[in-house]
Amino acid sequence: MPAVERRRIQQLSPSLVNRIAAGEVIERPAAVVKELVENAIDAGATEITVEAEDGGRALIRVIDNGLGIAPDELPLAFASHATSKLADDEDLFRIATMGFRGEALASIGSVSHARILSRTPASEAAGEIHDRGGVISDVQVAAGNVGTTIEVRNLFYNTPARRKFIKGTSTEFGHISEMLLRLALPHPLISFKLLHNGRVALDLPVATEQERLLAAWPQEFHEQRLHVNAGDAELRIRGIIGLPELARPTARYQYLYLNGRAIRDRFIQHALREAYRGLTEPGRHPAAILLLKVPPQDVDVNVHPTKVEVRFRDSGRIHGLVHSSVREVLLGNDLTPNAIPMRSDAGPPRQDLREKLAEFFRQQLPGNGDAAPGALAPSVSADALNFAIREETGSSDADSGFAARGFANQVPQRSQEIAEENVARSAKPQAAIQLHNSYLVAQSDDGLVIIDQHALHERIMYEELLSRLQRGPLESQRMLIPIPVTVSEAQAALLEQIQPLLKKLGIEVHSFGPDTVAVQSFPSFLEKLDPGTFVRELLERGEQELLDLHDEEVLHEVLDMMACKAAVKAGDPLTGPEIEALLARRELVERSSNCPHGRPTTLRLSLRDLEKQFKRTGF
Ligand code: ADP
Ligand code: MG
Repeated sequence: MPAVERRRIQQLSPSLVNRIAAGEVIERPAAVVKELVENAIDAGATEITVEAEDGGRALIRVIDNGLGIAPDELPLAFASHATSKLADDEDLFRIATMGFRGEALASIGSVSHARILSRTPASEAAGEIHDRGGVISDVQVAAGNVGTTIEVRNLFYNTPARRKFIKGTSTEFGHISEMLLRLALPHPLISFKLLHNGRVALDLPVATEQERLLAAWPQEFHEQRLHVNAGDAELRIRGIIGLPELARPTARYQYLYLNGRAIRDRFIQHALREAYRGLTEPGRHPAAILLLKVPPQDVDVNVHPTKVEVRFRDSGRIHGLVHSSVREVLLGNDLTPNAIPMRSDAGPPRQDLREKLAEFFRQQLPGNGDAAPGALAPSVSADALNFAIREETGSSDADSGFAARGFANQVPQRSQEIAEENVARSAKPQAAIQLHNSYLVAQSDDGLVIIDQHALHERIMYEELLSRLQRGPLESQRMLIPIPVTVSEAQAALLEQIQPLLKKLGIEVHSFGPDTVAVQSFPSFLEKLDPGTFVRELLERGEQELLDLHDEEVLHEVLDMMACKAAVKAGDPLTGPEIEALLARRELVERSSNCPHGRPTTLRLSLRDLEKQFKRTGF
């Protein structure tokens, strides 16, 4: 005999149904704001004011100048599953409004004291109706402007369990403010105002799309934005993205919209992350506000009660569009950070570097800036320049030690052409001096650049490896004796997952007993490294970071690691030809000036900056 008593199946009462729905949709005061403001947007309002008291716990009032609700429909507004936004079954598959479930007002009314005051343009007077925890009043005639005002007081007064989860006034108000901003961004033609306890907290007048989107970012980000606008007649993407250095550990400055609705979508976030790959540190979230437009029938918004998650008919296409359009904008722009910080919080290292440089030039150049910038460059023989090209074609000088650094033989056709073209094009020889065995200083068109030799080489290796891979697996060397590496169970599992990928990269590792694997071949260009150590490190890192990544992401991570290990280090003295070869290849990665780990490879100091430093301006 079961220990429980059987109970009859019963239909739930409407008030219970609504409270259950409220549990899903109305998580906190900000959720009320979302539902009410979405309704106002759907009603065609051009002015929306939100007033909150005590973080929205005491009162939330939303006033709009939209189309209003006719008096005889007011009772339906609070009824569950009652909506003006769906006429037939088909409509559900091409939703163009923010709402469609007809549940929000019923849910809100069931857990608060709510009131609607509304007037349509056609009616003489407004109508008013109350919902007190699910008990709906009759409609009364009242005075009011065209549009709708909805008041929600004493939220969760009858659901103590939910009320307990509500945080302090400022936290809840913070959520409200963020929510309203999020709602307002894709609607620049609607003015939004938010008041808290009578004080204006947010004021967004009618604006252009650009201006409105920028409202989400701090002022100092504004100058560092790039514009995205791409797509075709069906699929469009518009918005602003931040320079890589604006990426942050949280996704705070990231806003994604689909047909005007704020969404959360792992696919799109992934596409965005991928577009910034190599430009920001891993784990950082680029600043980006993207407005996607998709035909309504190509997306299902009915998969989540608050509609923040959606399902695309063709997610691959969206992914591709986001990735390619963002990447294109990034690579099409000069991302070289300026050595003179643009922002006050640019951090001390650059400031330091700038001062050190100014100091260096004061000491090194007796002419104190009178000298032409060309005087910086030590003379470089034509031979040294040609060296880079010969090296690339692998025709001679292969024993220069440079080959051993992993440069030679890995160069793809394209970079060779670029480098050749580059040398042919530039009238002046490109030359640099090495400082502290770590930095290369070279003349640029409008001043000079300071290059981090490790970061640049790493970046070059990364790009070269990537394009080399497109032509087939990397060359590898078979070990005479396989090199054993002890692995944990998780590492062995990871290895199994990434084995095919490693093979492409020239690393062959096979299982060799219960907790041991053996490295059987290793890429030729990494010959300086110890294969056992490399594989051990890869698996250790992988255990924490690679397990739930896509193959492509794993590939990039491993490439990052290879490029980093194979590149010249800070502190390595470079010969003239080596410097030349590095600079010749710079063109290959020029457009993206960050190393795979997200650090910049190049800082720039313009003549103007120098003049300022030497106090030559201002008189
Ligand atoms: P939904 O938005 O999913 O239709 P709601 O419960 O949010 O469901 O609203 C129910 C109905 O009330 C809406 O379909 C709409 O007709 C009407 N309504 C709600 N708010 C407003 C408003 N601010 N202006 C005009 N009509 C509104
Ligand atoms: Mg609604």
